[in-house]
Amino acid sequence: MLRRALLQASTRCRFSSSSSLLLASRRQCSSSSPSSDDHFVEQSVDTPQTPPSATISIDRSTLYHPSDHSHEPTADSELVKHLKNIIKFRGGPITVAEYMEEVLTNPKAGFYINRDVFGAGGDFITSPEVSQMFGEMIGVWTMCLWEQMGQPKKVNLVELGPGRGTLLADLLRGASKFKNFTESLQIHMVECSPALQKIQYENLKCLTEDGIDGNTEKRCISTVAGTPVSWHMTLEQVPTGFPTIIIAHEFYDALPVHQFQKASRGWCEKMIDVTENSLFRFVLSPQPTPATLYLMKRCRWAETKEIAGLDHIEVCPKAMDLTQEISNRIGTDGGGALIIDYGLNGIVSDSLQAIRKHKFVDILDDPGSADLSAYVDFAAIRHSAEEVSGDVSVHGPMTQSQFLGSLGINFRVEALLENCTDEQAESLRTGYWRLVGNGEAPFWEGPDEEAPIGMGNRYLAMAIVNKKQGVPVPFE
Ligand code: SAH
Repeated sequence: MLRRALLQASTRCRFSSSSSLLLASRRQCSSSSPSSDDHFVEQSVDTPQTPPSATISIDRSTLYHPSDHSHEPTADSELVKHLKNIIKFRGGPITVAEYMEEVLTNPKAGFYINRDVFGAGGDFITSPEVSQMFGEMIGVWTMCLWEQMGQPKKVNLVELGPGRGTLLADLLRGASKFKNFTESLQIHMVECSPALQKIQYENLKCLTEDGIDGNTEKRCISTVAGTPVSWHMTLEQVPTGFPTIIIAHEFYDALPVHQFQKASRGWCEKMIDVTENSLFRFVLSPQPTPATLYLMKRCRWAETKEIAGLDHIEVCPKAMDLTQEISNRIGTDGGGALIIDYGLNGIVSDSLQAIRKHKFVDILDDPGSADLSAYVDFAAIRHSAEEVSGDVSVHGPMTQSQFLGSLGINFRVEALLENCTDEQAESLRTGYWRLVGNGEAPFWEGPDEEAPIGMGNRYLAMAIVNKKQGVPVPFE
């Protein structure tokens, strides 16, 4: 029930950039969302009865029992084979987090790795793809923070998971008149997908130049505002020692979550196993798993009443660790981070979902062909940041609607509407509504099923800044 309620209230509509596109929001497709419980079995902890014997017996009860060897060709994808092999050679099930990480970012066959997953022809659409105004407003926020930082001459501007690079392209175009700002920027894209890195290179209109001052390393320059750009697989690889501004839009929701379920023997981790018929299914761990430490940590940050009614809890150790890395960096080098995602300001119960071609699908169905994402636990981000650094302050979360509204998106849409075609005007209005509205657009006159759905209250914005910078706009 809780799961259904969450799904119905779910936010991660990655919406259409054009009103004529028929892209379903999460809310619209919730009815077709299959329950993962269909696959669910509780893993037995009983040891089988051993017959009396004079020979030495080995307890194989916890070992993997492969189904009989067969020479039938299987239609399994490379990723499915890989997942089954991990389970087989491990001799037991894997965590939901391991599954999610392999499915999304396996270097050969992960969902994000080899293709462009965004847009009408892809699996979902994100806010930067909905409207140029999104990247422009993030640009306003970034410039305000840079001002508060004392207009440093050299700043790392880092984007975590930049997708197609649209947000930064709009940010740079919008800021290109402010030369002092753009000339200070060193852009760092943290992106694990070679296919998306290529698209980002193109969208930022990059050129590759020979290194300067005898440096043999080539460097990339985005011609949008003449800024150097480099790519990294992780945040750790981004050089330190400079004030840094970090943007994470719809990045945290792709980080792998561990799922726990309350059973008669206490909290057990939900794991993924393979049945005798070679299908994936959920099982419960027979004993505590390493991620239980994170569950305990997360629960210590919660009030007893917050946990009391729950029988499922999700924790995201990678989100906690990443936040600590961000906070340490900002605490030492100065600057700030902006995190925008859909989620809750508290414990998340059971939110993991799979979306393929704009529709909900089963989490275990054809892994690698659908996006997996989970709600972001903003309260855990706050606690993680505060735990690790006394030099940073955490602000928000506030709704995306409040955030973009306070930064002046209303003025921006009005300015753009003054000088555009009818078609552009419609796209601006629907895009604006999707970013800041709530529910179906009241002005919509087209078919009901195509009505733009506002996600302004579903998405939340949070900032982590060095205390020297004071309170960032618009969190005052
Ligand atoms: N911010 C973009 C894209 C969001 S989708 C937008 O709003 O349009 C998630 C992005 O994060 C993709 O670019 C994906 O390839 C990247 N990504 C996901 N997991 C990652 C990881 N562990 N390391 C680096 N990049 C990752």
